[in-house]
Amino acid sequence: MQERINYSKQLEVRASYDVIVAGSGPAGICAAVAAAREGAKVALVERYGVVGGNLTAGYVGPILGMVGRGTMRDELVELLGVPENDMIGETGRAHDFEMAKIRLAQFVSHPNIDVYLQTTVTDVVKEGSAVRGLVVTSGEGAFALLGGVTVDATGDGLVSYLAGAQTEKGRDDGLMQPVTLEFTIAGVDENRGVICIGDVDDVKLGDERFLDYCKRLSLAGELPERLAAVRLHPTTHSGERQVNTTQVNGVDMTRVDHIFRADLELREQICTLMDFFHKHLPGYENCRLISSGTTTGVRETRRVIGDYVITAEEMAAGCRFDDVIVHRAEFIVDIHNPAGSGQAEDHIQYCDPYDLPYRCFTPKGVENLYTAGRCISGTHRAHASYRVMSICMAMGEAVGTAAAMCAECGCTPRELDVKKLQNRLTNKGIELYG
Ligand SMILES: Cc1cc2nc3c(=O)[nH]c(=O)nc-3n(C[C@H](O)[C@H](O)[C@H](O)COP(=O)(O)OP(=O)(O)OC[C@H]3O[C@@H](n4cnc5c(N)ncnc54)[C@H](O)[C@@H]3O)c2cc1C
Repeated sequence: MQERINYSKQLEVRASYDVIVAGSGPAGICAAVAAAREGAKVALVERYGVVGGNLTAGYVGPILGMVGRGTMRDELVELLGVPENDMIGETGRAHDFEMAKIRLAQFVSHPNIDVYLQTTVTDVVKEGSAVRGLVVTSGEGAFALLGGVTVDATGDGLVSYLAGAQTEKGRDDGLMQPVTLEFTIAGVDENRGVICIGDVDDVKLGDERFLDYCKRLSLAGELPERLAAVRLHPTTHSGERQVNTTQVNGVDMTRVDHIFRADLELREQICTLMDFFHKHLPGYENCRLISSGTTTGVRETRRVIGDYVITAEEMAAGCRFDDVIVHRAEFIVDIHNPAGSGQAEDHIQYCDPYDLPYRCFTPKGVENLYTAGRCISGTHRAHASYRVMSICMAMGEAVGTAAAMCAECGCTPRELDVKKLQNRLTNKGIELYG
């Protein structure tokens, strides 16, 4: 078989924008709306038929982590209808994914935003080291969108990778955090059905710690070992649980030959877990599967190396930066074991509320491009903290505001006066200092 072919094609330029946002996850929707509210003309490009990324298609909840006051994160938490105390307190309540699909579509429905759903970014338009737009493919075929500044909010850092930016994956041996398919069950007896919000949860089943009970049953062969961390989040509906437990290791979700194998295995694990619930979990005897993510949940792929690479050690110490654009980000270093079950580290690393600097969002060696969300510039351990959705939302808002300001003053992200950006953010009521 011939190994390579030459391929060239003239493409229609469909439209030009001040800002193009690739990917509509927590980071992308906030970037697009923030830029639009600043008056920029924005394209938001999403490969799925729904906006929200992991917030909707990925069935991921609750919205974890914290950031300083006044960001779009607060607006979205309210929009999705989860009481603030339930999000981060003892209960870790997941939002309603079906309502989120509607609410987030309304959120991005702004006169300055053209939303391209079911449209996949396939390449970048480049001029020297500068990104000038994207090549996208939809049901109409391929066309180009040109833009002043592009925001890579694809989670996978795909735009940056296509633009030739330096990227890294996983830890030193290349292994990444496992993939998971979350699902929702109904019919749980609330008087007896346990809630377990994570590996740090000491909830008891009778006299025994629930997670120890799961481990014991896994040793007895009733539950595969790697499924023994059974996380059962309540949702906004009584009798429901959001189950974050399936996992497949050794998968690289940027590789097309890994995707179906992982998806099949994860869906089969749902059946194993349902059997476990019915046979071994008090209050869960009559529960039923009602829905699952339309796409596999991907915790980790590419990290785009930027002008600064933040580390978990800095974050743990509550780092501050002169060019802060996300303030008081807070979450543990949560590394789901890339090589097995449970956590990768034997102790939980807590972080003092930390800052993210502007330089983590500008990919080294590439102009006119920002990253936002889980693909920003940090180490494997750092990523394990800032990847949660509250922090990704605040990143998106800061970068979307910056991108609009670049359009306003006709400058590139590297030329933008960060002080002016900080003033713009604080004028909106966003806490950046202190
Ligand atoms: C199983 C699992 C459980 C998690 N649990 C929690 C939790 O409980 N709480 C929490 O806060 N966080 C949790 N996280 C982390 C969090 O969900 C993600 O890190 C976060 O959603 C990242 O946001 P993002 O906007 O960067 O990317 P994503 O949410 O992944 O969104 C990226 C978007 O870009 C789109 N896209 C990608 N490529 C293209 C392309 N070529 N063209 C067009 N569009 C494209 C995708 O379709 C997607 O909509 C979990 C993650 C996983 C996988």
